[in-house]
Amino acid sequence: MAETGPVTEIGAHGARLTIDLGAIVANWRILAARGAGAGCAAVVKADAYGCGIGRVGPALWAAGCRTFFVAHLSEGVAARAALPEAEIYVLNGLAPGAAATFAAHGLRPVLGSVEELSDWAAFPGDRPPAALHVDTGMNRLGLSVDEALDLAGDARIAAAGIDLLLSHFVSAEKPEDPVNARQIADFARVRAAYPGLRASLANSSGIFLDGARHDLLRPGYALFGGNPVPGTANPMRPVVRLAATVVQVRSVAAGATAGYNGRWTAAAPSRLATLSLGYADGLPRAISGRGQALVGGVPCPILGLVSMDLIILDVTAAPAARRGAEAVLIGDSLDIDTVGRAAGTIGYEILTGLGSRYVRTYVG
Ligand SMILES: *Cc1c(COP(=O)(O)O)cnc(C)c1O
Repeated sequence: MAETGPVTEIGAHGARLTIDLGAIVANWRILAARGAGAGCAAVVKADAYGCGIGRVGPALWAAGCRTFFVAHLSEGVAARAALPEAEIYVLNGLAPGAAATFAAHGLRPVLGSVEELSDWAAFPGDRPPAALHVDTGMNRLGLSVDEALDLAGDARIAAAGIDLLLSHFVSAEKPEDPVNARQIADFARVRAAYPGLRASLANSSGIFLDGARHDLLRPGYALFGGNPVPGTANPMRPVVRLAATVVQVRSVAAGATAGYNGRWTAAAPSRLATLSLGYADGLPRAISGRGQALVGGVPCPILGLVSMDLIILDVTAAPAARRGAEAVLIGDSLDIDTVGRAAGTIGYEILTGLGSRYVRTYVG
């Protein structure tokens, strides 16, 4: 079923974003199968990593996913609209005064401090269960290991309806980093002090570490095609494809420059193609002079500076380049990890920056 973008983009030059819901579901099943008895949740913060909670949530629910994590309360409200019966946890915790909103939408706060725990325990009305976040190394959110050990058996744990204990890896995508073993051991110690609770530690990459799976897996990035095991073959199916139409092609002489500030100079006579997307669509300006697009399967350098709404390719080597031809920005050999590297960032940032001007199509 196709979903179109703004009317002004239909049939125009704007880039097309295709999101494969079948691949997301297949990726969830691949990860769930690695759980060896652990359940598998889905982390769908940042509008399902840019892919759209309204479509991704119901597709995962239909596949059997029952537990979802978002970052913000507002994302929880949006997720609830798409997932009326799901368990939805809000990772970034309980802000002062927010408890009633959590309760009204049946959202579960991931309590990250003793203050948050006390607040939630003291909330006078009916409330959903909550999770307790233990910080084993990020120093970002969560009780310290010592605080969590001291609190075991505290009346506030029962009063707050804590049903899940979680922690988060610092460097799970680097299996050789000794911090992983330290976090796994600390989390196991805390878990032992809370015998009745479900426990969850593994993000996408953590699923591939020994001793990290516990009761509930929390993958995000890998669901959307990101490689959870960098440096080895990606076990996930690609989800996102971004393609644009060539607006025009021109020939330039040696010595001509292209784009703002003339950052690129033709070393020889060249053919240039202009595409209708830019940094306002989430294509990072940092990819200027570093990234590529595929035209007729030929890698073509993104030259000069990325503009707000346009980029320029060197298509000298791509005979297929002409007005109306397709250029692939994400897809085929340009997977999201590769695009992230070219932009000096990570694929996560490419996904979560996917722009709102793209014509979006959901397949699968
Ligand atoms: C984002 C996040 C995840 C998912 O991480 P991925 O690396 O995308 O799989 C899991 N847990 C927490 C606490 C997170 O913030």
